[in-house]
Amino acid sequence: MAVTVQFHKGLKEIGGTFVEVETARAKCMFDFGFARGDMLDYKIRPRKGFAASDYAALGILPVTDGIYDARNADVLRVLPYGEPTVSKECFLLISHMHIDHMGGLTFLHPDVPVYMTKDSLKLYKRISENGKEEGAMHKNCIGVEPGIPFTVGDITVTALSVDHDVPGACGFLIRSEGKTICYTGDFRFHGFHKELSRDFARKVSQAGVDMMICEGTSVSHEPVNMLKLTAPEEGKRTEQDLQKEVRAYAKKAEGLIVINCYPRNVERLHQLVETLKKCGRKLVLVEVAADYLNAFYPKDPICVYEDTMLRADRPKKWRRVSRQELLFDPSQYVLQLPYRNMYELVALRGGVSAYLHFDGAPLGAYDPSFRRMEMMLEELGIAYEHMGVSGHAEPYYIKYMIDTIAPKILVPLHSFKPEQVKSDAAERRILPAEGEVVKL
Ligand SMILES: [Zn+2]
Ligand SMILES: [Zn+2]
Repeated sequence: MAVTVQFHKGLKEIGGTFVEVETARAKCMFDFGFARGDMLDYKIRPRKGFAASDYAALGILPVTDGIYDARNADVLRVLPYGEPTVSKECFLLISHMHIDHMGGLTFLHPDVPVYMTKDSLKLYKRISENGKEEGAMHKNCIGVEPGIPFTVGDITVTALSVDHDVPGACGFLIRSEGKTICYTGDFRFHGFHKELSRDFARKVSQAGVDMMICEGTSVSHEPVNMLKLTAPEEGKRTEQDLQKEVRAYAKKAEGLIVINCYPRNVERLHQLVETLKKCGRKLVLVEVAADYLNAFYPKDPICVYEDTMLRADRPKKWRRVSRQELLFDPSQYVLQLPYRNMYELVALRGGVSAYLHFDGAPLGAYDPSFRRMEMMLEELGIAYEHMGVSGHAEPYYIKYMIDTIAPKILVPLHSFKPEQVKSDAAERRILPAEGEVVKL
């Protein structure tokens, strides 16, 4: 049997990528986040026991054999996981711990094997432990070492690390019956580990690729002629730039600096602790961010914001910092405050110099809460500054990745305008429709 690749979801949008690679003996699927993110409203609960089929019926999760429990599979008229008629070994790969790539895990049949890097699994455990209300952790997760191949049925997979804004991010090399497929996951070249993305390109190019499935987030909006790009855009900000900017800010500001950051970007938190130490400030985290930092950087000194803590079982060694302490000496601290805890600013506003937004929720104007956040800050008279750094490669580096890998077939996705992803190095490009099957 030929190797077939079916493209289900996330083809002309950012997130919800779901692709199936099928061989004679196995079916390998990736990733498992939510598609149609614009339809998702966390204020609405799916029906108990029918979440998978409710989401799948709306196009948020995929409809396919071999991944759901009997009840949901029955509603969707597909075969459940473990059914003897699904004679192939079905398994999933998760590229990284962003909700648009892993948010659906809790809705899988609990026995489906799900492979991810060891660091992704470490973070997934913390995310699940801290957010039990969002659903149970998927039971059958297998943490793999990047670079070490593993085999399921007749498919051999190697996870290869990339630079992205979350620990453990990787792409995959998938091989079977003499064919090789590469999936990039999300990647960039301006984070703390750009060499990982370069190594990914080099290793995949050495493997020789029949099909490359590549993200194209950064060409989603403006018109871009990728074929004409010869150098990276000037003045593009990096993770290091962000640290420098925060340092400058922390030095000149007289009061408390409040940051809204994305806590799963754990390395940014770790670097911030160091950066702020150099200018005499302490980073005070809410307990979830503190828990992530503690898991990946156990030697970092941790200060936690006492007044938003919900759990009594947090480590004793974390230094508790209270609202009173922040108000007593605001120039000593930087407070990480999620949108959920925005009302803290009512009490703290007298001491606050600025609210710096770097990639936390609400992320942009597409989220109705974004305007609410702006209104609250206006009302409280707190200066706002956007200081985000993207998790995605700029167009030049997407082209660099494709040019280096030089696949026979290029499939761009994870973009509102995948048709803008182009490279002369690919023999052919496919922009598949939902459900389309390509035979290799
Ligand atoms: Zn993504
Ligand atoms: Zn991502």
